[in-house]
Amino acid sequence: MFIDLRSDTVTKPTEKMRKASFEAELGDDVYREDPSVNELERKAAELLGKEAALFVTSGTQGNQIAVLSHCQPGNEIILESDAHLFYYEGAAISAFAGVQPRTIKGMRGAMNPLEVEAAIRDEDIHAPETGLICIENTHNRAGGAIVPTQNMKAIYEVAIKHNIPVHLDGARLFNAAVALNKPVSEFTKYTTTVQICLSKGLGAPVGSILAGNEDFIKRARKWRKRLGGGLRQVGVLAAPGYIALTEMVERLAEDHENAKFLAEGLSQIPTISIAGHVETNIVLVDISQLNMSTGEFLEILKGEGILAVAFGPTTIRFTTHFDVNREHIEEVIEKLSNRFSK
Ligand SMILES: *Cc1c(COP(=O)(O)O)cnc(C)c1O
Repeated sequence: MFIDLRSDTVTKPTEKMRKASFEAELGDDVYREDPSVNELERKAAELLGKEAALFVTSGTQGNQIAVLSHCQPGNEIILESDAHLFYYEGAAISAFAGVQPRTIKGMRGAMNPLEVEAAIRDEDIHAPETGLICIENTHNRAGGAIVPTQNMKAIYEVAIKHNIPVHLDGARLFNAAVALNKPVSEFTKYTTTVQICLSKGLGAPVGSILAGNEDFIKRARKWRKRLGGGLRQVGVLAAPGYIALTEMVERLAEDHENAKFLAEGLSQIPTISIAGHVETNIVLVDISQLNMSTGEFLEILKGEGILAVAFGPTTIRFTTHFDVNREHIEEVIEKLSNRFSK
């Protein structure tokens, strides 16, 4: 058995989720007749402070449907240069939506609103139209960094001024909300649309939510169908998703405490260092002093029964979640200390 810190996506559904799935009331969701899906979408819209919501297969699908529903081919979209939408989605924004990315380097995931405004295109026969601004919160490659609500507000004001929608990739938005002890609506009030993942730290087996106004969700529902994402008795997945949303949020605080504890422990090892600081459930470790590749480092970890992932040439990412507890974290610290303190 490995201590698996590769991602919070590895969490398995709880007993209660499996039972809810078994007992879920079902119907054909393409006809909008699945009561479990309808209930999940209603609850999600309420929590996210939007008129309507749509259950989608994955975070990637939710983000892509957002781009497809907001933009036209030939548009340009503004995103942070390490954003998941740019970095990890197989260039789907270009392959499917026919838009080109315009990236801005952020500070711990937060783009400077002045740079965002400067990147918005003027009316010009040579230029693409700016179709969308994307924000990611928490920011994955920035180490689970929280993009401050003041930053989101400033970017939203720029967007409104230029009549451009804002999409929030909130795959881990609940982590940000729990860490700052704010409702998620404090973040989503500064976005036109939002995607959140049910299947990461919240533990659902599958699924994400895309939320926005009625008109947007109507277009999104059609795009989901075009992409083959119109599912039938999908209440079997929506029922565990409902538990994720209503019962699994507060406990994310434990993941954050475990991540801080891990960072604290690893920072005592002289040959490695913590990159940035830990705000939520992600710990980035810099191994440049060890003179080995991330591949070699991960192999050594694997030999010790620990799994993590590489983030760039000298950075390792550890992600905490509810399938690892404090004893597991202590074991990781002890094993790495023994191996690398010399
Ligand atoms: C995981 C993740 C996604 C995509 O979610 P999938 O369900 O894996 O497709 C999108 N954005 C961010 C920031 C993520 O961390």
